[in-house]
Amino acid sequence: MHIGFLGLGNMGGPMASNLVKAGHSLSVFDLSQPAVAELAKQGAQGFNSVADLVAAAPDVLISMLPAAAHVKGVYLGDEGLIAQLSKPTYLIDCSTIDPHSAREVAQAAQAAGHCMLDAPVSGGTAGAQAATLTFMVGGAAADVDKIRPILQAMGKNITHCGDNGNGQVAKVANNMLLGISMVGVAEAMALGVSLGMDAKVLAGIINTSSGRCWSSEINNPYPEVLENAPASRGYSGGFGSDLMLKDLGLATEAARLAKQPVMLGAAAQQLYQAFSLQGHGNLDFSAIIKLYLKE
Ligand code: NAD
Repeated sequence: MHIGFLGLGNMGGPMASNLVKAGHSLSVFDLSQPAVAELAKQGAQGFNSVADLVAAAPDVLISMLPAAAHVKGVYLGDEGLIAQLSKPTYLIDCSTIDPHSAREVAQAAQAAGHCMLDAPVSGGTAGAQAATLTFMVGGAAADVDKIRPILQAMGKNITHCGDNGNGQVAKVANNMLLGISMVGVAEAMALGVSLGMDAKVLAGIINTSSGRCWSSEINNPYPEVLENAPASRGYSGGFGSDLMLKDLGLATEAARLAKQPVMLGAAAQQLYQAFSLQGHGNLDFSAIIKLYLKE
């Protein structure tokens, strides 16, 4: 199948690269010329606009864009790709956006005769490079089966979560829990150290006790507890605090629309909002522990 790929950023670039490596015929577009040139160097065909990419008539079109506004801008409206596609196409949006927008775009795609799936990912840029991403997929089961081999070139776990939008539901629920658990681990580590515990010993206790979670074990926020964690290199790399803020915003907004309380999610969202305002948005999200530590 001929695949089109839109959005070649930190995630989309390596994902597209893995499709080329797996032997797929790939056409790409990004607003960034250097990003297109890099993929062309690897064997993809580069295009200068969405319209040109659509005119190349791919069988499958994958997008990996920053946020819902970009996704709606690219897919919807008279100039959008749904209106421009001349044949039924599998559309797969891997961006992290709110479930409501994902369902709106999927409805427009289906009304125009296309199959659409939302397939947000977990695993970060390292997972995108290593082709070990987890895909959370929303849409018809038959469509998921059809495109599964394509997703397998970019990821390891491909889970069908239900109807359109449910991939995004899984993603926002998981990332809300991640944000909450990181704040909890930061609070517990800071409390223990201020009461006299050694940080490494405390982390060891937590990680063999009932407080253990990904934020304590793999990405502990206390400096020098884990040699390879962002906390031990000035919180560089990893998953940015502003990206966590975006995902917590998606969760709290989806909760508001569903009239579902998310008390801790809202508190975590406000903590990351304040942290961003202090200029820390580019630091790994474990840096939230700075709110608790004496300088
Ligand atoms: P990014 O900002 O690095 O890349 C986005 C790319 O989209 C950029 O290259 C940009 O030029 C391009 N773009 C924007 N508008 C466009 C348009 N109209 N047409 C074509 N290209 C356009 O972002 P990223 O880190 O790759 O993240 C992409 C998505 O994946 C986001 O929704 C993010 O929340 C999600 N995500 C990111 C991570 C991560 O660790 N970075 C992990 C999981 C999920």
